[in-house]
Amino acid sequence: MTAPRILHEGFAGVIGNTPLVHLRRIESGTGCTLLAKAEFMNPGGSVKDRAALAIIRDAERRGDLHPGGTVVEGTAGNTGIGLAHLCNALGYRCVIFIPANQSREKIDLLRTLGAEVRPVPAVPYNNPDNYVHQSRRYAASLANAVWANQFDNPANREGHYTTTGPEIWRQTEGNLDAFTCAVGTGGTLAGVSLYLKEKNPAIRCVLADPSGSALLSYIKQGEPQPTGPASITEGIGNSRVTANLAGAPIDDAIRIEDTEVVHTVYRLLREEGLFVGSSSGVNVAAALTLAHELGPGHTIVTLLCDGGGRYYSRLYNPDWLREKGLSTS
Ligand code: PMP
Repeated sequence: MTAPRILHEGFAGVIGNTPLVHLRRIESGTGCTLLAKAEFMNPGGSVKDRAALAIIRDAERRGDLHPGGTVVEGTAGNTGIGLAHLCNALGYRCVIFIPANQSREKIDLLRTLGAEVRPVPAVPYNNPDNYVHQSRRYAASLANAVWANQFDNPANREGHYTTTGPEIWRQTEGNLDAFTCAVGTGGTLAGVSLYLKEKNPAIRCVLADPSGSALLSYIKQGEPQPTGPASITEGIGNSRVTANLAGAPIDDAIRIEDTEVVHTVYRLLREEGLFVGSSSGVNVAAALTLAHELGPGHTIVTLLCDGGGRYYSRLYNPDWLREKGLSTS
């Protein structure tokens, strides 16, 4: 008897190869084709599954991580979720440092997934007790352990250079004029842009930035300078240029205000049936802005980074939105 052919090897085997969704109603009136990678369909629910896998595989290749080892990160978000799933699947211990002011749901979810969560005082980055520094020191104190270091570990963007970029190129058969997405670590935008520009330097690569972030000014003027009030978006925007973003071939940046984010997220839900988080709203709003800038006949690709289920208490809570003066229409 022949063994059945295993098409996908466990959790890690179903990360990536996400569908490219045609946003037919969102694009209407622009004369452009708008396409979005459904990253919320990754098994851990977000684009960050790719970074988590790339970082773990890189540590294994370097010989820093062996069976039974520990993966440590300071994160309150999707990277921690991806790491927690992968550590279960690959036989590692997962330790997540998180600022103590993060929501109960986030801490509970990470613990449910099997991570050891260590809440630490919420202090600024320049304080040595900041959660990022604590996670780095803890990893360094252990044998057979890796500090994921998603912001400055280039394995993150390499993961997008070897998977997300080639998938977009194959799925569009090279017929695309522009790519845009928001930046948290920069792994996605940098990795995809590096790959696409190698294939065709004319593809326009554009950073989509929420209010309050310093990256728009970095791209436009060469200096990171926070501008505008803090945004309601989560997981994106940055006050500094990470190692993952540095040197990426970015042509331009677009600011997307919160009113536009919320409007676009609810359009995605009501017109396309897609229930997604705030960074997806930034991305699709930026793709629409690009469509108007480039004019009819162009194809623009972006990402839907995670699902809406993680945002019930904020983005999908009408009372919370009203308090912020934001409207869903
Ligand atoms: N969207 C969401 C929901 C995220 O969690 C993140 C990562 N923080 C991003 C977008 C940005 O991705 P990257 O870190 O690759 O820049």
